[in-house]
This record gives sequence, C-alpha cells and structure tokens, in this order.
Amino acid sequence: MDVFRATILTLFPEMFPGPLGQSLSGDGLARGLWSLETVNIRDHGLGRHRAVDDTPAGGGPGMVIRADVLAASIDAALPADDPRPRLLMSPRGERLTQAMAREWSAGPGVAIICGRFEGVDERVIAGRGLREISIGDYVLSGGEIAALVTLDACVRLIPGVMGKTESGSDESFENGLLEYPQYTRPRDWEGSSIPKTLLSGDHARIARWRREEAERLTRARRPDLLAPKG
Ligand code: SAH
Repeated sequence: MDVFRATILTLFPEMFPGPLGQSLSGDGLARGLWSLETVNIRDHGLGRHRAVDDTPAGGGPGMVIRADVLAASIDAALPADDPRPRLLMSPRGERLTQAMAREWSAGPGVAIICGRFEGVDERVIAGRGLREISIGDYVLSGGEIAALVTLDACVRLIPGVMGKTESGSDESFENGLLEYPQYTRPRDWEGSSIPKTLLSGDHARIARWRREEAERLTRARRPDLLAPKG
C-alpha cells in the first residue's frame, strides 16, 4: 500500500518526529500508516566545516542558507519526478489552511524544507519549484516547528490515524465554521449544566442546536470565515 510519505530537509533532523512520535500520530507512524524520513542539509555543506550558510548579499545581519547547498540536498533527497509538493516553510508564504492539509493528506505525501537563520537564498525557491507556506503572522527561529504543525494537520486526516472519530466533518474550518461547544460528564459542574438539548436524545434538535452554535461562534469570533470570498 502506498502510504503518506513525509521527507523533511532540515539542519536539525533530531527534532523529528518529536511530538508526532506521540499519541495517535505516533501510533500511526509505528503502524506504518505514514512514514517519515529526515535529510540533514548539512550533509551537503561545503568544506571541512560543512558550511551551509553565508552572509547576506548587500549586507545586513544574520546568515542565509546557500542556494547550492540547499539545492544539492533537495536533488539528493527528491527525484525530479517525485509527485509530492515541495513546501518551504516561510513567514512570507501562503497561510496554511485546513483545505491544504486535507488535499495533501489524500496524496502521496509532502516534502518540507525548513529554513533557519535569515532564511534561504531566493534563487532556490524558483530553481527547485518550492511552494512557500506560512503557519501564521509571526516569526519563528526555524522552519522545524512549522513543519511539525503542517505535518500534524495532514497526518491526523490519514484514514486510520484518528481511529473512530476519523476527521470529523463538523470540526472547525471543515465546513467554513468554527466548531460548536462540546461537553461531557459530569452533567452539573460548579453550578453549570450541560445544555438541555444535548441531553434530549432528539438528534434533529441536537444537530440544529450545534449548527446554530457554530454559526453564532463564527459570527462573533471569525466573521471573515462567513464573508463571501472574492
Ligand atoms: N528573515 C525572515 C525570517 C527568517 S526566520 C523573514 O523576515 O521573513 C527563519 C526560518 O524560520 C524561516 O526560513 C522559515 O523556514 C521559518 N519560519 C519562521 N517563521 C515562520 C512562519 N510563520 N511560518 C513558517 N515558517 C517560518
């Protein structure tokens, strides 16, 4: 069976699988529902010190990952006909969405390139067909945590990874709405009870209540999700 394959190019391979080695994603990895391979970009570094970075052209602080070194690691790890998207973690990229995670999780997998320092030489992005992806409007110190976030969003959607509750279609973002409130036992807690509708056993009423709550929360917190796209 062809499983979802993740290949991560990083200067810190020991950060993987990290948290994805735990819980349901970790069980899925151990059960072969998805696979993970890391490639150390430094293996393609230059000289005795295996240098991977250099000072920014034009001056300024920090260091930039060299185009030749990064391209060599990409070429060694990913055959030209590898069908997987090549994602470069980057605060300048397209914002990661649930729709992207769903699309990628249904495909052959992903190759993820993790930047460090000030980022990577611009030429390698077009030169190797990288798609820049951001996990949000803040700057991390490296792409590894962004790669873990991206992978987690994909892996939990792989059939079998989540067990029974498989990728609920009611979840936040799946239907353009935030999820309705959830409750469990005890029925009364610190003077607050579970909404009566949820205890009614009337499935149609429960579905309606959940729909209304999801809409109410989305209107209040994320009206942008309801606005017509344009
Ligand atoms: N100088 C860059 C930031 C470099 S941060 C800039 O201003 O755009 C170092 C690395 O961390 C980046 O190359 C990228 O791989 C990763 N990174 C930082 N913030 C990120 C974000 N919000 N989403 C995805 N990757 C991010």
